[in-house]
Amino acid sequence: MQRAKQQALKNVEHVAEGVAAETLPEGKLFEIAQSIGDKRLEELNVEDTTCGYCAVGCRFDLYSDGEEVLAARPTAEEDAPVNGISTCVKGKFSYDFINSDDRLTSPLVRDENGAFREASWDEALSRVAEGLGAIKDEHGGEALSVIASSKATNEDNYLMGKFARQVLGTNSVDNCNRLCHSSTVAGLARTYGYGAASITTEDLELADCILLTGSNTTEAHPVLATRIKQNVRDGADLLVFDPREIQIAEYATQYSRVKPGYDAVWINGLTRYIVNNDLHDEEFVAERTTGFEDVKQAVQEFTPERVEEVTGVPPEEIAAAAETVAAADACVFGWTLGLTEHSHGTENVMAMANLAAVTGNLGKPGAGVSPFRGQNNVQGGGGDMGPLPDNFPGYQDIADDEIRAKFEDAWDCDISPEYGYYTTQMFLAADDDDVRGMYIIGENAALSEPGVNHAEDVLRELEFLVVQDLFVNETAQYADVVLPACSFVEKTGTFTNTDRTVQMVKQVMEPKGDSRPDWEILQDLANRMGWEWDYDSSAEIMEEVSSLTPLYGGVSHERVDAEGGLQWPCWDEDHPGTERLYTEEFNTENGKANLQGIGYSEPAETPDEQYPFTLTTGRVLYQYHTGTMTHREAGIMQYSPNNFVEIHPETAAELGVESGELVTIESRNGEIAVPAQVTDRVGPENVFVPIHFADSAVNRLTDEEHLDPAAATPEFKVSAVRIRPYEGEAETMASVEGEVARGDD
Ligand code: SF4
Repeated sequence: MQRAKQQALKNVEHVAEGVAAETLPEGKLFEIAQSIGDKRLEELNVEDTTCGYCAVGCRFDLYSDGEEVLAARPTAEEDAPVNGISTCVKGKFSYDFINSDDRLTSPLVRDENGAFREASWDEALSRVAEGLGAIKDEHGGEALSVIASSKATNEDNYLMGKFARQVLGTNSVDNCNRLCHSSTVAGLARTYGYGAASITTEDLELADCILLTGSNTTEAHPVLATRIKQNVRDGADLLVFDPREIQIAEYATQYSRVKPGYDAVWINGLTRYIVNNDLHDEEFVAERTTGFEDVKQAVQEFTPERVEEVTGVPPEEIAAAAETVAAADACVFGWTLGLTEHSHGTENVMAMANLAAVTGNLGKPGAGVSPFRGQNNVQGGGGDMGPLPDNFPGYQDIADDEIRAKFEDAWDCDISPEYGYYTTQMFLAADDDDVRGMYIIGENAALSEPGVNHAEDVLRELEFLVVQDLFVNETAQYADVVLPACSFVEKTGTFTNTDRTVQMVKQVMEPKGDSRPDWEILQDLANRMGWEWDYDSSAEIMEEVSSLTPLYGGVSHERVDAEGGLQWPCWDEDHPGTERLYTEEFNTENGKANLQGIGYSEPAETPDEQYPFTLTTGRVLYQYHTGTMTHREAGIMQYSPNNFVEIHPETAAELGVESGELVTIESRNGEIAVPAQVTDRVGPENVFVPIHFADSAVNRLTDEEHLDPAAATPEFKVSAVRIRPYEGEAETMASVEGEVARGDD
């Protein structure tokens, strides 16, 4: 099977954006799979399911012989509203992790010498109940925190939030949304009411204009990039503002290189041009917004000259982009983490929300705001299901007495009205012993948190740490107990994708070894800690979700399966779901978009003589998150074997380094050594390092205290660094010869 997959990968070598299905003859991969071991179609398990890698939410049929996943094949186009017959290399090929030799198939506990040994579920769960229970008894539930998993299903995540509040007695439950789009959620919720995309994916093809910023779409959201490129080929304008000249910029009507950390400046510059030239949508502004005069006044300081001085974007580019947006009948504003992972990410998002509103680009086909979410279920599991310190499921405020009483009644427990810690705050609170124990599910905080040197110290010092995962990942190295969870091909539930569509995830294989679905583990643990949970299936959990969560009021497994997906809000069983938000009114008390002027902010740390370069971080096509799944895929590692740093040719010449040679990157927080990739994709003052590799973890360089004040999102996109040729023995990394393999070259 491995050889066949590698052959198939070779066939799609040229698919820079990774859209594999389009380049393979229909059924080709399945033919390959069939030829392996003479499997016959009728002997295989086949389920239509949803990809577990990114939040685009591609649907396909997954084929398994019960031992391994043999093929992912497009479903009927009408059953896959987001992707049709397209998938990317990850959804298509990356399933070796399921049977990886180091897959966790039994619980692990520490022995008397501090080493891990295998244990029964009974022993492991007893240890967890005792460890967490002891901290709760001595210091109160607030001394415990839970990090939930945006890779897990909605049903799993609903129970993670319930477990934290009901069983542990803490509101400190959060997840990876804190590290990425929580500033989007805060900024959009403040302005429009919902912290989510207003569009349906089809709008990317209906728009006359798409403005993209901070989104390496071809690598991070390949299938969405394909839809955008198709629309551009059909005549739509594409405007790309980004510090890196990423591949999608090749398709752009206009590409503008921006200095990292000052997005609200150029966005306000666009808004200023539009309102000062009376290009805004007067009718929309008058009837559907408040705060226009505040915005108009606030943007006046962002003159073309100032925008150029701060961001590097010349006046003619601001004017041209503003004219293009204003002339479009329908414009989509799309972004990813380049806009949000800042110490003022919420302000960036609010500036973008202002621009969309003053141009009337909301609530109609081809128009709206589209934050492209990252992990497969960060919209649903990471947000909608309420494993959040301040919200119950459906973004219901825990400080609201009536709402809290509803959940106290349903869950038969008292819940504090005080917000808990956000993920980033949990690690800071642990320094003061305000957090003493953690339960981390499907997250790899030892690589993904900002300032991982600090995160490692915290994990090491915790009184009790439980990790629930598929592998003994970097975080689990510090755990007292490790519980084996199973993957999305081994369980049933739902994911909610980036355009709010709830879709089925179906089991095609039995869980490996003694691994179990997260919800089953939580249920056993809750019962061991004195509660009486009695769910027979994830469908039953969704029934409880819909009974308590108005946004999901009409969502059930039965409907989602029968209808191929439901977009929230879906108020009741007769409601068809909601393709586009804000067609009639906004989700605010007055029903209007409440605009607020956004002033000037700068990054928490700016380059200086000591640390003259700005480091940004991000993703590459072939890898996913901290690599726990993709690093176990031989075909993937063939294309993306190691880390790298993009350095501009001028900088490389000054340093005297060439592509493939190691450099040391140093910030005020730490240092790493990585091979250089010399490229003018970045500007001379910037460098870029991906987030996926443990041996040169870029978050050793980022800072755990540079957080957005509204959303507590870290400033991953701006760190001041210096660079020097590596002075150790090796001049190059063993596996790197010349140019580092890339997904988009
Ligand atoms: Fe999976 Fe995302 Fe690739 Fe689609 S684009 S196949 S959802 S990783």
